[in-house]
Amino acid sequence: ARQPIIAGNWKLNPSSIQEADGLAKGVASLLGDETCASSSAADCTEVVVFPPFPFISSVVDDLAGVGVGVGAQSIFHTAESGAYTGAVSASMVTSLGCQYVLCGHSERRTVFKDDDEAINKKVLKVIEDGMRPVLCIGETEEEYDAGLCADVCKLQLAKDLAGVSAAAMKDVVIAYEPVWAIGTGKVCPCDVAQTVHKTIRDYLAELYDRSTADAVRIQYGGSVTPESVDELMAQPDIDGCLVGGASLVAEKFARICNFVR
Ligand code: 13P
Repeated sequence: ARQPIIAGNWKLNPSSIQEADGLAKGVASLLGDETCASSSAADCTEVVVFPPFPFISSVVDDLAGVGVGVGAQSIFHTAESGAYTGAVSASMVTSLGCQYVLCGHSERRTVFKDDDEAINKKVLKVIEDGMRPVLCIGETEEEYDAGLCADVCKLQLAKDLAGVSAAAMKDVVIAYEPVWAIGTGKVCPCDVAQTVHKTIRDYLAELYDRSTADAVRIQYGGSVTPESVDELMAQPDIDGCLVGGASLVAEKFARICNFVR
């Protein structure tokens, strides 16, 4: 069985270190005894938060001993150091204690023009540096309406995972985030999400093999709330959630992490 993984993507929030510490401490006090990031038991949920770069170090301290992991929302994939103003390297976030890095989030794809080639390089770099990529994929509303959801997801997987070995896939998390469900309040119907997750897993079995595919954790993301999480997590191929807005409220995020099985 796959260990559930719930992650909070804080995006460009909150606006100050004081608020970030408040949120992290809130999560720490609510989840203190519930999580067990050090254990990989299937009945124990892994929890990770992705704060903005300037808050990572402080949030790592806030969450020390709680068993909630910390990740980075992106990294610069081209170089480890040098003349790249504004960039943040994989080794920098590793040295702060990050275990995960988001790769291919739809907001990175659209706002920051991360293309599949760049995303693939990020995924490879994150693995090379001993961290775990959370590879986000998903179709737009237009593509969904045109019946292209499966094709879009498969193409993104093929391009973004190029050169990733079957052995490395055990450390890769896939997040299916239909673009039309992100920040819209329109959560993807559970049966639709389950079908897409199954399609993703079957395609991973084509790219790799069945046992590799069966071990990969696939998260759903897009307007996940305390109200929708239980039914989503009851689907056989949904192994976790990547939560945006609701992860900014400690009580909501804690309730999502403590989804009812
Ligand atoms: P929302 O939960 O705000 O829809 O965001 C989802 C998301 O993009 C997580 O990465």
